[in-house]
Amino acid sequence: MGPQNLPLRIQEVRERIAAAAAACGRSAQSVTLLAVSKAQPVELMAAAAAAGISEFGESYLAEALEKIAALQDRQLVWHFVGRLQANKTRAIAEHFAWVHALDRLKIAERLAAQRPAGLPPLNVCLQVNLAGEDSKGGIEPAQLPPLAAAVAALPPLKLRGLMCLPPQESDPQRQRHWFAQLRRLQEGLNAAGAALDTLSMGMSDDFEAAIREGATIVRLGTVLFGSRLRTMSP
Ligand SMILES: *Cc1c(COP(=O)(O)O)cnc(C)c1O
Repeated sequence: MGPQNLPLRIQEVRERIAAAAAACGRSAQSVTLLAVSKAQPVELMAAAAAAGISEFGESYLAEALEKIAALQDRQLVWHFVGRLQANKTRAIAEHFAWVHALDRLKIAERLAAQRPAGLPPLNVCLQVNLAGEDSKGGIEPAQLPPLAAAVAALPPLKLRGLMCLPPQESDPQRQRHWFAQLRRLQEGLNAAGAALDTLSMGMSDDFEAAIREGATIVRLGTVLFGSRLRTMSP
């Protein structure tokens, strides 16, 4: 897909977000469109930024750092949505506003220690592995309360909420079943005194179901940009 089609594609996605939100009594503004631009060319991202997209998600650090440098004159918010490795935390702490897939205290402590003093707190979400899939990161639900408490006690981080990458389902009811689980986990933490305001859930094939279950950030790649240029291993 070329940049010339992008404004229309973005408009269509925004309309689908608004319709899904309206269907459950939410405002369109309560859902942030995070454009996941991994393996997409920087020219397409510049076109998306020109069409009003301000939040971008990347999964691979080296690629992300190049893009952040190339687009530094725009006012963009960068989210790291990929898996976290200890040797990458410093650059992530220095260059990103959000981290979505936190699942280990050791990584949280490194990010906290390495967050530059002049920057606002790094927003983080804890990834939950709802179906116990070995191929995916994330903690099991039972580990969530202690990890949430430990991360919330690291001031350079701001624990904002939860994130999931559930099994792929084509049936919207099945999709909603997973997202409802993440919402309930967050409700449980908030009932116990946390103040989480973010549910990062929903991708190109299931974002409407996620919005129905309370998603506040939908992470959208192919539905916006078309298929990725290459498949990259994490
Ligand atoms: C790639 C990716 C997405 C976007 O996936 P699409 O199906 O292309 O919308 C969202 N979240 C994460 C964590 C990803 O790695």
